[in-house]
Amino acid sequence: MKLTLIKKIKESKDSFSFIFKSEKELLWKPGQCIFYKIPHENPDDRGTTRPFSISSAPFEKNIMLTSKFDFEKGSSFKRALFALKEGDMVEAFDLRGNFVIKNSKNKLVFLAGGVGITPFRSILLDLEYKRKDLEVTLFYGNKDNDIIFKDTLDKLANNHDWLNIHYILEPQFIDSDILRKHIKDLYNCFYFISGPLKMVQIMKEMLLKMNIESKNIIEDYFPGYSDKK
Ligand SMILES: Cc1cc2nc3c(=O)[nH]c(=O)nc-3n(C[C@H](O)[C@H](O)[C@H](O)COP(=O)(O)OP(=O)(O)OC[C@H]3O[C@@H](n4cnc5c(N)ncnc54)[C@H](O)[C@@H]3O)c2cc1C
Repeated sequence: MKLTLIKKIKESKDSFSFIFKSEKELLWKPGQCIFYKIPHENPDDRGTTRPFSISSAPFEKNIMLTSKFDFEKGSSFKRALFALKEGDMVEAFDLRGNFVIKNSKNKLVFLAGGVGITPFRSILLDLEYKRKDLEVTLFYGNKDNDIIFKDTLDKLANNHDWLNIHYILEPQFIDSDILRKHIKDLYNCFYFISGPLKMVQIMKEMLLKMNIESKNIIEDYFPGYSDKK
């Protein structure tokens, strides 16, 4: 499927969103991801394809990819992505992912680490659009106050009682005390974790230690950032 870049947006000092128009209508569920192929000269050993969560909600129609860039040590793929100009085309394929709401519980806890917020933007905007009767608490761990999608998230939380957001900035990290403090009904919630692999592993271990059942936990991890928390 061919996608045409229509807009590039700076989200934080090192994160950008890329909005693409699809040649064919793509029907995705909030939280799913898609693979992108960007052929470029001298690709490094990581190659020319990557999966990215779709950070836009289906009602927004266009497909948004949001990513973080390491301008010194980053991959050749990210350099090629960053160099795309409006009107350039990329190939997208293999829409997939189970990181989606399945309505088993109406209290949801979202745990995001850094750029791991991408599927949650799609999910939260979709919940607002469909006026679903859910209660959501988002814990969003980040290095500093330079937070991806902060304006969108704050607007959602200000407009809706069903959403509470806690930004947890380093040196603080999301931990069991913070969850216990803010979630009254820990054992009647469904937990979504998204972020770099290490962060997802730490969060899952923490939830299991708190006796949250593994059937109530779902994860989406971003392997390329596994060297970072
Ligand atoms: C389901 C799923 C959804 C995802 N969604 C997103 C998303 O929404 N946003 C997102 O940003 N990512 C997402 N990812 C991860 C994404 O696919 C990439 O793996 C990630 O962005 C890292 O990209 P990169 O490998 O190009 O490395 P870069 O981002 O360029 O670099 C990351 C770090 O890896 C190191 N590095 C870079 N290149 C090399 C190299 N050639 N050899 C050794 N080390 C190197 C550097 O230290 C660098 O700091 C998702 C992954 C999955 C599986």
